[in-house]
Amino acid sequence: MPQLEVQPCPDAEGPSHLFYLSSLRRPVVDRAEGIYVWTTDGRRFIDGSSGAMVVNIGHSNLNVLNAMKRQMEKATFAYRLHFQNEPAEELARDLARQLPQGLNRIFFVSGGSEATESCIKLARQWAVATGRSKRWKVITRFPSYHGSTLGSLSVTGDDALAETFTPIMRVMPTVPAPTVWRDRDTISIEQQGLRYADTLEEKILAEGPETVLAFIMEPVGGAATAALVAPDSYYPRVREICDRYGILLIHDEVMSGCGRTGKFLGGDHWNCRPDIVALSKGLGSGYAPLGALAAPMRLVEPLLASGGFQHSHTYAGNPLACAAGLAVLDEMHRLDLIANAAVMGDVLIDELKALQKRFPFIVDARGKGLLLGAEMVADPETLRPIDPARNGTQRLLDLAYARGLIIYGRKVKGGVEGDNFMVAPPMIITRGQVGEMIAIIGDSLDALAAELDL
Ligand code: PLP
Repeated sequence: MPQLEVQPCPDAEGPSHLFYLSSLRRPVVDRAEGIYVWTTDGRRFIDGSSGAMVVNIGHSNLNVLNAMKRQMEKATFAYRLHFQNEPAEELARDLARQLPQGLNRIFFVSGGSEATESCIKLARQWAVATGRSKRWKVITRFPSYHGSTLGSLSVTGDDALAETFTPIMRVMPTVPAPTVWRDRDTISIEQQGLRYADTLEEKILAEGPETVLAFIMEPVGGAATAALVAPDSYYPRVREICDRYGILLIHDEVMSGCGRTGKFLGGDHWNCRPDIVALSKGLGSGYAPLGALAAPMRLVEPLLASGGFQHSHTYAGNPLACAAGLAVLDEMHRLDLIANAAVMGDVLIDELKALQKRFPFIVDARGKGLLLGAEMVADPETLRPIDPARNGTQRLLDLAYARGLIIYGRKVKGGVEGDNFMVAPPMIITRGQVGEMIAIIGDSLDALAAELDL
């Protein structure tokens, strides 16, 4: 059975001074181009998850690199309390054009956690500025992932991530994520969607509507739910409920935004009208740390009239990061990558569904565009999960990694038990490359089935 070879960094002397999730030492990246990444030991990987669903337009895009170089030669930093800068202005204008009508006030940050946290602070400050100061609760879904700073973590539905930090943050109320694939209900899928949406109303009533500020959700799920898509009926019902109780709807599009799902926003598949949107990942596409929130003037004006948004990051609106973001958007349009994500997404989901037929332990394959995921269990009849001690998700990722393919997967504590994986290659992927990826996933699943007796 091929095992993952975790090699020490070839030129590293002694232990690394870096520390991340674990002490695991991965091969050292040498260069990256298109959908491929090469390591210093000469191996080539297909980046089947765009890093962590970041590199939407592919690695080493020359037009983006040149645009960044041009900006670097002008100014790499301009503090926003001292100067406006053109890339930030232009990027904000470009974004406003592509977002749902009215979401035309932009606040830039450097990543996804900062983006979701900024949404929450904006909502709260708006509430205080408009006489709604009793409203502070932000209802979220379980499982979910909205970031790892304390504010964004407070709305992240994952016991493993939250439990250590609960004494120093407020853990917010949750409603179940719409995991209809496992309910096997006799009611129609659309009725199921309504039932999940209605859990939001029940939660609002239980908490006291006058205390609820916002509801945060991903229109197409990311890491915590492996590309979970709700039934069509869910989205308008959630909007209706938020409107009924005067609650702001925050869409976390950090992973699903910027074209990845085959529309500019994941929520555009349902013509959603969120009040605030968080973006990151694909916005800078890995060329620069970049995130943003978008909100309508009606939410921003009361803040500006009462001393401004009480929120600030030194790198907010950094000209170099924004120049990268601007060039990324230009390339996305020049190469028609949103359309390619839709077309290649259709090819890839068909291939995943074919794998589902070949491997019955895959019980669901889903997603939108190139944000796709699949769910694995030990027994497809009863949905009995794979023995957690066997670490199904991680083994599959390792088996694919050993074969030169990077895919993504994460287990959430306290959520739906089970194992999943996500496939989300750069939006420049071709049909041939999809085939290359699927062949490796098939081989890896074969190896997983043999290893875990699936
Ligand atoms: N929100 C969502 C939906 C995400 O997927 C992530 C990261 O994976 C975040 C927020 C946090 O983003 P970052 O890791 O850039 O802070």
